[in-house]
Amino acid sequence: MKSWVVGNWKLNPASASAVQALVDDLVDGVDAQSNALQSCHIMVAPSLLHLSQVENTLRTKSAAIDLACQDVSALSAQSGAYTGDVSAEQLQDLGVQWAIIGHSERRQYYNEDNDTLLKKMSHSAAQGLGVILCIGESEADFEAGNTTQVLADQLTVIADFLKQSEAADADYIANKLIIAYEPVWAIGTGKVPSVEEVTEVHKFIRERLQSFDATLAKTPVLYGGSVKPENAQDFAASEQINGVLVGGAALKADSFLDIAKAFS
Ligand code: 13P
Repeated sequence: MKSWVVGNWKLNPASASAVQALVDDLVDGVDAQSNALQSCHIMVAPSLLHLSQVENTLRTKSAAIDLACQDVSALSAQSGAYTGDVSAEQLQDLGVQWAIIGHSERRQYYNEDNDTLLKKMSHSAAQGLGVILCIGESEADFEAGNTTQVLADQLTVIADFLKQSEAADADYIANKLIIAYEPVWAIGTGKVPSVEEVTEVHKFIRERLQSFDATLAKTPVLYGGSVKPENAQDFAASEQINGVLVGGAALKADSFLDIAKAFS
């Protein structure tokens, strides 16, 4: 199974020219090292504002890099009077293949909860847009030993999606779902759980998914939180870790591709 290395650019870079420099460096790097990177899916998630620009570069240069968005509308309507919103249909039409949903920063700053995420997931699926669902416990929950309880609650979105959404067909659930485990306390802090800890958590996630539907035993489960070229090799050594979701280190093409090489 190919691994996944996904760069979440968050609210970066600040200018279109810096975005262009980053995507150009990435495309050149992927081209130059295509052999070393062939067992890895590479994906980037620019801000909504820069998706079109990045898509244009990737398409023009035929780059082997997938495109994700960092958010998508929770409304079932794919068009209409919804100021400020962007639909799964518009994203799909632009060439975006995946939507990151439920990132802890969106849960924290925009109150994204399981109900909202179920809507985002159902509407993405209705358009064939893949979903990367982020889950993860806070530092307080980690210290209190509540990690699995928190994750089980966050994973009910998947169970509800399977039960309620007409778009949850066999092909979609086999190919268009990814889970990213991102402990909140590891994001942007330089603190990382041990590979053994992540491995145990991923086993729990996989068992849970499998209890919803046998097909989900094969759903990729990625790790995210302070992944750097220096620790990527360690995470890549665990069979339970099918890739990584990278924040800060995805903003430099060299660092990001070094991480991708560790997973190839
Ligand atoms: P960092 O890699 O900067 O810790 O961010 C991880 C993350 O939140 C990716 O979605």
